[in-house]
Amino acid sequence: MIEFKNVTKRYGDKVAVDDVSFNIKEGEFFVLIGPSGCGKTTTLKMMNRLIPLSGGYIYFNNKPISDYPIYEMRWDIGYVLQQIALFPHMTVRDNIAQVPQMKKWNESDIDERVDDLLSMINMDPEHFKYRKPDELSGGQRQRIGVIRALAADPPVILMDEPFSALDPISREKLQEDLIELQAKIKKTIVFVTHDITEAVKLGDRICLLNEGHIEQIGRPQELIQHPKNDFVKQFMGDQIEQYETAKLNHLSQYGKEISADVIEQRGLSIFDSEDTVEQVYAALAEDDAVAVKDERSHQYLELSRAAIFNYLSQTRERVGEKV
Ligand code: ADP
Ligand code: MG
Repeated sequence: MIEFKNVTKRYGDKVAVDDVSFNIKEGEFFVLIGPSGCGKTTTLKMMNRLIPLSGGYIYFNNKPISDYPIYEMRWDIGYVLQQIALFPHMTVRDNIAQVPQMKKWNESDIDERVDDLLSMINMDPEHFKYRKPDELSGGQRQRIGVIRALAADPPVILMDEPFSALDPISREKLQEDLIELQAKIKKTIVFVTHDITEAVKLGDRICLLNEGHIEQIGRPQELIQHPKNDFVKQFMGDQIEQYETAKLNHLSQYGKEISADVIEQRGLSIFDSEDTVEQVYAALAEDDAVAVKDERSHQYLELSRAAIFNYLSQTRERVGEKV
């Protein structure tokens, strides 16, 4: 559906994208990932002609993108940015209605579409459609940004680090939303992130960029199990290690509150919430649980051995689920 053929982008002497070729299939969730400055945004923006190429071709449905009328093309490709810029003086409804209005949809079709989209992300239309952006939380604004990109039903959606400005809880919620949404709409999504956990969670395939060239393209599991070179190994390796060295505070949802008296009675070892799962392994060989002290609330949580292994197996499964 989208094909890059020997695409190069130079800014002066600086080669931002270096002879890149790949193919994105229809309905695919394709993730572009890599360190900051590796060329992700440039690659994305070339797809809807926000940036001209210095060399090579990009084809959209087998036709060079330069053959499409530029505005139509932009309207046919949804675009979501890190900081969604909703028009502050407009209601949620009017923000979502932008592209359909440019495409001259009639207002009743637009209303129907707005209601459908809001319902799709579980935001009650009656409750939300006449609100202004400043009457929404950051996470809600970002969700509106995502459905706004879908408004005119474009076949392709480009997303540039759409969740990276959010707190971890909202980010996870939006990732879940997007997985659910994609299952319903089955669009071709090109998603840029520098967060490998996000990439592994969302991507059908991952394209790992480094200094403007492709290090490896494949399913998440392929990159983890068969990294092509040391760069890929290190990039993915950190990911696996991250699970093994997960900080105990990431597990707080698996814990149960416990009092200091009970900890003493049971003779449980006490750890700090910044300690890692690895550090508690030894203690778990002796006891069936450990206690974790939360520095801020001064409360203790009991983390059972079962809860910790359950957490680890779930995170591992997530890494492996795309096999
Ligand atoms: P990423 O999104 O992966 O962080 P970018 O695609 O934004 O990377 O940038 C790739 C490289 O091109 C970087 O080295 C960046 O500094 C450079 N670059 C991006 N935009 C411009 C520009 N308008 N002018 C000059 N250099 C740029
Ligand atoms: Mg970028």
